[in-house]
Amino acid sequence: MTSVLPLIKKQIIAGQFDNEPEQFQVYTERQIDKIAALDQLSEAQRFEMKVVANVLPFRVNQYVIDNLINWRNIPDDPIFQLVFPQKGMLSEDDFDQMAAVLRSSSDRSVILKNANEIRQRLNPHPAEQQSLNVPFEDNEPIDGLQHKYRETVLFFPSQGQVCHSFCSFCFRWAQFIGDKNLRFSNREVRKLHDYLAQYKSISDLLITGGDPMVMKSDHLAAYLEPLLNPEFEHVQTIRIGTKSLSFWPQRYVNDEDSDQLLSLFERMVKAGKHVAIMAHFNHWREMNTSVVQEAVKRLRETGVVIRTQSPLLNHINNDPEIWAHMWREQVHLGMVPYYMFVERDTGARRYFEVPLARAWQVYREALKRVSGLGRTARGPSMSAGPGKVEIQGVTQIKGEQVFVLRFLQARNPDWVQQPFFARFDPEATWLDHLKPAFGEQKFFFQDEYDAMREKQISPRVYQ
Ligand SMILES: *Cc1c(COP(=O)(O)O)cnc(C)c1O
Repeated sequence: MTSVLPLIKKQIIAGQFDNEPEQFQVYTERQIDKIAALDQLSEAQRFEMKVVANVLPFRVNQYVIDNLINWRNIPDDPIFQLVFPQKGMLSEDDFDQMAAVLRSSSDRSVILKNANEIRQRLNPHPAEQQSLNVPFEDNEPIDGLQHKYRETVLFFPSQGQVCHSFCSFCFRWAQFIGDKNLRFSNREVRKLHDYLAQYKSISDLLITGGDPMVMKSDHLAAYLEPLLNPEFEHVQTIRIGTKSLSFWPQRYVNDEDSDQLLSLFERMVKAGKHVAIMAHFNHWREMNTSVVQEAVKRLRETGVVIRTQSPLLNHINNDPEIWAHMWREQVHLGMVPYYMFVERDTGARRYFEVPLARAWQVYREALKRVSGLGRTARGPSMSAGPGKVEIQGVTQIKGEQVFVLRFLQARNPDWVQQPFFARFDPEATWLDHLKPAFGEQKFFFQDEYDAMREKQISPRVYQ
């Protein structure tokens, strides 16, 4: 008799998410054998995972394992594909090389040497991010910043260079390999603020990672609060790129400093900043748990706007119905669909890529199935060296089948929104596979882009 009431009370309180916060528990490549859910796989399957996980980053947490994956449907389950390594993510040669190493040696330095050899073959730094996007001050690169488009600066806080789980398709995979210095640095805060204060053309700060939401709230506050000072009036929008709503929504609900985080956002919004959470969702299943829905609700109550983005990924969301369902659910929960990306030419791209022609078809078919409020996602968009190039369509012009393209963003703002054309190619998966249509030799931006690369011209010349 006496035990009934406490039980009911506990259930009700648990439903409000403020009792017994779930402990964050994470597994990396060395702990694959400790993941109980993988017991159902054969020894050979687990070995395949280890082979891949010694080359590409692997990290998964218990919330994802327990709540997002349907273990009756592996290996096909989309969230299983999103976080667990699959054999096809490496080429056969690369896979065989690493498998042979693991079979014959447990010497970390031998494993690492081979891993690094393979990684170098996977285009670890795509779109010239390192050579062209990092700004210089007094001939010194400013680490942790990328400034590619006039209005927007990307900031990579050193203590945000990890995620609650890793996505197997991540284009930033190379950042998660090797030693990490996760110490909080005041120097870094100052470098960011000095840079922002200096360039009045910057309206948007985009804090990214890894995942900035792995940071403690007071670290985040050290970056954000000073932006309320008058010298930063031009920085109107603060965007935070994060996968935490999928991988650890508890961040906004019952982590130790959740309330502190939400009140920081509320203060920023009340003081007049547009705070945008750029949420990564790859599949509608990530939005199904009660804790993520509670997190979205709490975030929206602070006045932030949640915008969503994802690449189109074979094995995960290569289906218009998945996108239509995802966009509908996002609108339903009060989020704004923002971008559909094309999987970048790096890392495990072989496994996830889809032809550009297919990407456009999925986009169009998905868009057709949702109301206007779900049609705010632009794409499919390739984040390539010259800029973000959107596939607007496939059509016939004077007897030639062509892709119609445009820049959504460009190193030179003047390139934006000018339609241009490429010869149709059913197999092309990236911008550098495309050739100009109508027998032309070059795309309109090519000479100027080549000159920028040669002279290392930064976007600041356009302000
Ligand atoms: C996508 C991107 C941005 C933001 O572009 P928006 O079109 O404003 O969303 C900024 N910097 C880089 C390097 C990007 O790839």
